[in-house]
Order: sequence, then C-alpha cells, then structure tokens
Amino acid sequence: MSERIPVMRPWFGPEEAEAAAEAVRSGWVAQGPRVAAFEAAFAERVGAADAVAVSSCTTALHLALIGAGVGPGDEVVVPSLSFIATANAVRYVGASPVFADVDIETGNLTADTVDAVRTPRTRAVILVDQGGVPADLDAVRELCDPLGIVVVEDAACGAGSRLRGRQIGAGAAFATYSFHPRKLLTCGEGGMVTVDRADVAVRLRRLREHGMSVSAADRDAADRGGAPPVLETYDELGFNYRMTDVQAAIGLVQLGRLDAMVERRRKLADRYRRLLAGVPGLRLVADPEYGTTNYQACWALLPEDFPLERDALLGRLSAEGISARRGIMAAHLEPAYADTPHGPLPATERLTRDSLILPLFHDLTEAQQDRVVSVLYAAAGVAAPELAEAGA
Ligand SMILES: *Cc1c(COP(=O)(O)O)cnc(C)c1O
Repeated sequence: MSERIPVMRPWFGPEEAEAAAEAVRSGWVAQGPRVAAFEAAFAERVGAADAVAVSSCTTALHLALIGAGVGPGDEVVVPSLSFIATANAVRYVGASPVFADVDIETGNLTADTVDAVRTPRTRAVILVDQGGVPADLDAVRELCDPLGIVVVEDAACGAGSRLRGRQIGAGAAFATYSFHPRKLLTCGEGGMVTVDRADVAVRLRRLREHGMSVSAADRDAADRGGAPPVLETYDELGFNYRMTDVQAAIGLVQLGRLDAMVERRRKLADRYRRLLAGVPGLRLVADPEYGTTNYQACWALLPEDFPLERDALLGRLSAEGISARRGIMAAHLEPAYADTPHGPLPATERLTRDSLILPLFHDLTEAQQDRVVSVLYAAAGVAAPELAEAGA
C-alpha cells in the first residue's frame, strides 16, 4: 500500500527548528526583537513602506479595515468566493459585506464585477488574490481611487506571487498575508499587514497591542537603560493580536525559502498541466496575462459534462490514498451568510461547485503526481497515454 498523499505539507528544515529553539533559549518569547526583524525583512521583500506582524491574516484584515476607516453603516465589496475570514472581517467592524462575482479564469474580483455592485455607501473593497493568483490591483484602484474607496488586498495566499513584475501587495494601501500551514510560508499561525504609509503602521502596531502607546518591548528597553519608567497610555480600543518571537524566528527562515518554494510549485504545476492536457475539458488554474501565481492552490475546474460529480471525484481520489480538496468555498452559500442579500453570482457558483484542489507541495514526487493524474484520467474515462509506459 503506497503512502497517503496530503494536499499540502509545510517546507521546514533544521533551520526553522534551530531558530525556534534559539528564541526559546533567549528567554524572550513574546513579541520582541525577532518580530521587529521579521517585519523589516517582510516589508523589504514586498517593497512596502512598513509591515506589521499579527496573529493571523484574519486579525490582519480586521486591523486593515479599522485603518481604512471602515465602520458601521459602510459597505465593503468582497468576493463570496473566498475563505470565510474575508467576509467575516467586514462584520467585525460592524460594516456590511457586499458580494461581487469573480472572473471564471482567475477566481478573482475585477474592476467590472466591483463596479456592478458598488453603491454610494461603498467604503472599501477587499481584493483577494485567490489561491495565490494575483488580482488586478491596478485596474481595481483605477476604478476605486477617484471614488475614495479604499482597496485592501487580501494576499493571504499570495506571498511570492507577482503583479506586473512587482511582489504581491506592493503599492497597496493595505495588504494582508497568512502564515497558516495551508499557505506557502508558515510559522504555525501568524499574519502580516503591509502598508504604504509609515504613520498608518504606527497606529496598527498600537491596535494589535491593546491600543498601548508604548510597546512592552520598548518599555523593557527603556528600563534596561536606567531611565525613569515609561508609562503607557491607552488612547483607543485595541486588541491582543500579537505574534510571538518564536513564530517570527520561524517566519524569518521561511521568508528566505520563499523564492525556492514558488519555483518548485510552479515546476510541479507545469508538470500537472502537461500530464492533464488529455483530460477533455479540464482546466487547470494558470497565470493571468498581467502576473504570475505561486500556485498556493493548484485548482482544476471540471467541465460541465465530466462523468463524475466533483464530490464523487474527491471520494475516488481519497479511496486511492490521495487527499485533494474541494475548490474555494463561497461564503454566500453558508448559513452564517443566509441573511446577506446578494445579486447573481454565476461564476462563483460554478467554480465552487466544480473545482478541486490537487496535492501540491515541495517534496511531492513525480510518482505521486502520476498517481493523482491517473485517477483523474480513469474518472474521465479516457486512457492516460504518458503514464501507460510507467505502468501507472
Ligand atoms: C487563509 C485565508 C485567510 C485567513 O488566514 P488566517 O491566517 O488563517 O487567519 C483569509 N483570507 C484568505 C483569502 C485565505 O485564504
């Protein structure tokens, strides 16, 4: 019996374990110097003015919306086709999510789909780079900037993807990232907000630490200098959304692997594309004309006339020891959003019903990939020419 193939596996080496151990040995495990170093390295990598580390992409989105001035009575345009956290963040600030449809090729909002649902109450748009595929931030900002609508980029999945040659999130007023193990770069849990203005970063840093005017790390540093105690004040409602130094130590090592991660994933995705070319009507996610994806989610869309329903296909793969996943969820179909009015979302509904995410991780072997491919050919009812020779 061959080993089960997971859908995703983090890429860790001994360096991550050593970095975490070193943080523990230092005695400073809460937010401290390693978080500051991770923020500086991340901002530089993205080409952003600053970066603020937080506990997750969900909390990053919450802070970004506060920073964008979104509150009760406002509408925020979001794709329904996204992990539920995107829409949830809008409700955390008391605003109303308004679902826009996505482009069937990329799975992302476009200037046209945003334009179709905006109203005079639209205060912001959360533009998701779904599955790592870059959304066209430039086109959406061209629509939104003159209207005073803030674009928050949810790049949870997008670290290492590019838009017109720039890193994802570069040039966004706010861009948010996730370090959950389902994404490329991980430190267990964690998130980051990059911003294009230094003063905005100062406010977000306070908000993530209870609204404190002076961080615990800075008070500790002042103490050691023998100066009189620095007394903090609390000027607005804050949160505990801090990242720990143990996470940041791991994140710093992971950031150094990002290019290799993307390169490896793109190579494996290309191989899937070549091997699956003979499955009639099956479409694998690809680079849009204006950017490159990191293939965080290597999803395939089944043709309408595929012999098996998507969920039956997932069952078939599972029976063969392969963990694939349904494609991206649609928030408007979930009970938590039953009361949220929305217009027609045909591309969203087609993508969420008929797509699946194939296993893709750095040490996926060609033999494992061939196993996935052969199940898809068998389900399609056609022979798998390239694999026949290998006896798959
Ligand atoms: C994973 C994900 C999130 C949530 O990230 P966490 O770090 O788990 O909070 C938000 N938005 C999108 C698009 C995601 O894929």
